Amino acid sequence: MTERRGGIPASPGIALGPAHLVERRPLAVSRRPLEAGADAVEAEVERLREAIVRGREQVARVRDRVRDARHPPELAQMMEAHLQLLEDEALERATERAVREERVNAEWAVRQVAESIRAALEASGDEFFRERRDDVLFAADRIVRNLAGLQPDPAADLPAGAVVVAHELSPVDMSHLVHGAVAAVVTETGSRTSHTAILARALGLPAVVGVEDLVGSVAEGATVAVDGGRGEVVVAPPAGEMAAFRDRARRLGELQRALRDEGERPAETRDGCRIALWANIEFPDEVDSALGGGAEGIGLYRTEFLYVGRPQPPSEEEQLRVYERVASRMAPRPVTLRTFDLGGDKFATRPQVAGELNPALGLRALRLGLRERDVFRAQLRAMLRAAVSGNVAVMFPMVCGVGDFREALDVVAEAKDGLRHDGLPFREDLPVGCMLEVPSAVVVADLLARYAAFFSIGTNDLVQYALAIDRGNERVAHLYQPFHPAVLRLMRQAVRAGRDAGLPVSMCGAMAEDPLALPLLVGLDIDRISVAPASVPLVKAVVRSIHRDAARRLVDEALEARTAEEVAEIFHGHARRAYPDLVPERLS
Ligand code: PEP
Ligand code: MG
Repeated sequence: MTERRGGIPASPGIALGPAHLVERRPLAVSRRPLEAGADAVEAEVERLREAIVRGREQVARVRDRVRDARHPPELAQMMEAHLQLLEDEALERATERAVREERVNAEWAVRQVAESIRAALEASGDEFFRERRDDVLFAADRIVRNLAGLQPDPAADLPAGAVVVAHELSPVDMSHLVHGAVAAVVTETGSRTSHTAILARALGLPAVVGVEDLVGSVAEGATVAVDGGRGEVVVAPPAGEMAAFRDRARRLGELQRALRDEGERPAETRDGCRIALWANIEFPDEVDSALGGGAEGIGLYRTEFLYVGRPQPPSEEEQLRVYERVASRMAPRPVTLRTFDLGGDKFATRPQVAGELNPALGLRALRLGLRERDVFRAQLRAMLRAAVSGNVAVMFPMVCGVGDFREALDVVAEAKDGLRHDGLPFREDLPVGCMLEVPSAVVVADLLARYAAFFSIGTNDLVQYALAIDRGNERVAHLYQPFHPAVLRLMRQAVRAGRDAGLPVSMCGAMAEDPLALPLLVGLDIDRISVAPASVPLVKAVVRSIHRDAARRLVDEALEARTAEEVAEIFHGHARRAYPDLVPERLS
């Protein structure tokens, strides 16, 4: 019986193959009181310690295996975070204490402790917290499986060419995907920022996540077709549809090869207007894929990923080494370091963000930095020092207006004073830019332009805040409309304010990767576009198909439109005429 399901498009690409189900639900555990006497307790504690040690060895082995060039660097970092959880003495001590004080079996104690940590993380209610919550549960389940003498890695044997279907996958499971040469991944849980999504993109593996209640309706071996770009999953497609999927997969492969051949050519419109095409990175090692894809700079380095999944923030020296590596590898090309955007949908253990009812409107990004000044200043010191090694600029996320921007500049000044006092070299004239991703900042962009060295429009958040639509909530995803006339007007206002003040204006939200939206950016006169490394060739091909003048006329037309649908139709129509092979429906 054919079944069609929609999910979150996590990693683009089309694949068709037999389903392979990975059971990763936690094992059922029951409470067993220990026999009387001290011996029983000591024996149970010993059993627990052995299971934890075995868990550490298992994960350390995987981490060592994935530390080579065949694996995306994200994988080793995630294994490291996973290992840190297992090595966390607090977890071990709390579990031991539970065994001793409650005189219960180790399995039960592990579950109880993991559950209390999970509850604390859950209380934050934000997406990144939930992902770390899953890490705790994976670690606990590994210990429980070891205690039960069961194989802790259900994804260890993956058939080549299979479509992996799972409720969820741990980072260790993902490491097996690299070796298994599977065709695609579909999970019931997850978001665009979950491990599965990040790794699938790094591996170039088509993936759809957040497909509710799928596992129960897929039989092992059933044919599953996956379109990771559209977020579509079809179980047991009819013969005609299977042929259509294969045809789309073939055309997509051809297009990708053709785009790679674009190689070194610049992102220049048909009428000779150059757009700087930069890349967004989350991890320092992505610099190589950015350069390989033809990016001319880094327009957004999301440094918060250095803080995530670890008990303490990275030290100034550690950050310095990372930023220096990125800056010198890219030099003389520009690198834009964004100060940490923690809170909201991204979480770190420290600085700590307490549970909030509305995390996206809470203590996030720059607000958190201004509150945790020591952590913020340490980051700015590292950035100022690293700027000596390359062409570095810094920008602040979630600026709301002149007040917070100037307060952040004060911290930059404090950081400089401190470095002078310490006699450490740094770049005195480091350019400091402002992200425009909160509507209030756009409205006062003319005032901000007096203090900022450049603007970078972040549409991921700008759309979220302008339309009051949670960017990570699949239930309102259909209302998340980058083409909404309000968003267009805000973008025009942002670019005009920058232009009038003679500032460069870049755009680093995901809208810049949408082939339909690119004429809008070109027509608005945005100077720089920054996209995921994998999207650079496609964006370049689209820019090379556009006439700047035609794009300006389209923008005028779009600004007269009344609804997001009308705007989308204008850009759809244009794309079908100007670059029919690159429109989304042809790409996936
Ligand atoms: C944005 O909001 O558009 C952006 C680029 O930043 P992030 O996605 O990291 O919030
Ligand atoms: Mg943002």
